[in-house]
Amino acid sequence: MQLDEFIIKNTPAGFTVHRNEPMSEHTTFKTGGFADIYIQTGEAETLAAIAPLTRYAHENNIPVQIIGGGANVVVADSGIRGITINTMTPVARQKVRRREAANDFIAPAGVASDTVAEIAAENSLSGLEFLAGLPGTIGGAVRMNARCWGKSISDVLIGVETMNIVNGDVIFEPFKAEEWAYKQSPYQKGNKLIIAAHFCLEPEKRGTILKRMAEYRIEREKKGHFRSPSAGSVFKNNPAFGSSTGKIIEELGLLGARIGGAQVSTWHGNFIVNTGGARSSDIRTLTEKIQAEARKRLGIELECEILFIGDWGDREKH
Ligand SMILES: Cc1cc2nc3c(=O)[nH]c(=O)nc-3n(C[C@H](O)[C@H](O)[C@H](O)COP(=O)(O)OP(=O)(O)OC[C@H]3O[C@@H](n4cnc5c(N)ncnc54)[C@H](O)[C@@H]3O)c2cc1C
Repeated sequence: MQLDEFIIKNTPAGFTVHRNEPMSEHTTFKTGGFADIYIQTGEAETLAAIAPLTRYAHENNIPVQIIGGGANVVVADSGIRGITINTMTPVARQKVRRREAANDFIAPAGVASDTVAEIAAENSLSGLEFLAGLPGTIGGAVRMNARCWGKSISDVLIGVETMNIVNGDVIFEPFKAEEWAYKQSPYQKGNKLIIAAHFCLEPEKRGTILKRMAEYRIEREKKGHFRSPSAGSVFKNNPAFGSSTGKIIEELGLLGARIGGAQVSTWHGNFIVNTGGARSSDIRTLTEKIQAEARKRLGIELECEILFIGDWGDREKH
């Protein structure tokens, strides 16, 4: 059976299929070429319903790329070959309420992290407020082990429901501390689609939690997070360097450095922004220029936090 025919017969209810979808509309950098086949979760009951399609793709050597909110990725200007599955969904919101107890609060992967934090707060549950204002989905936050205000996803996680995209098996994986570290998760390797995350939260007064969340959102605004399209911090911090990566880049005199439409923001050394009309290759070249400067002048290796995905041709993928 041809791919087209298979997709028509096997795309589950609620999912929608698009061809040649511009990824600039699905990434916070607002750059990137076209995805050949783009499947939007939309109103699907569960992400796991996509299993026949991912199995078929595996059997036929068709690449599968998963994205959530596109808040940590730079999609190649040449786009993405194969099938791209966007998990972001507005309708799983009610399902977040499917909690049985404070110590097992369940969030479907495609829901925005900020929304999940808000729902926890509405239920007088504390522990996820650090996600207030964080762009992207819970699946992306788990995969990246997102960290804000000194707290990581791994600090509150008790387990993850995953689907193996090769054979479609859905399992619950209990949290194992030894598999997690600063901005590292076991899902950065392998073939797992994150379906849902289970968190251990603590009861607290709703008003107190909401106040803390409002403060976090204001702090992000003040730091200029949303002034121009970006993917947040480009590089990880490294305590061995004795200073935050943002400060290091500033001290290298690189604030405002530009390649094409990409610029090191003038207000935050670790943010590259799209000043309008940037290409993904501008962002990548600027990232490499910063790394080269840090290597040459300080002898340090800045590790990328943003991910370069899609068809980068000969350029090495991260
Ligand atoms: C203004 C701004 C501020 C930011 N501030 C922070 C911050 O303070 N702390 C921080 O940690 N990050 C920050 N980020 C980065 C980003 O918000 C986080 O990394 C976020 O968790 C990414 O989620 P996403 O859904 O957008 O993931 P995407 O960017 O869509 O994907 C990231 C990776 O996760 C994978 N993925 C996504 N969903 C799934 C799934 N369901 N199953 C398996 N894999 C999946 C993708 O394949 C990709 O490899 C910021 C970004 C922006 C734009």
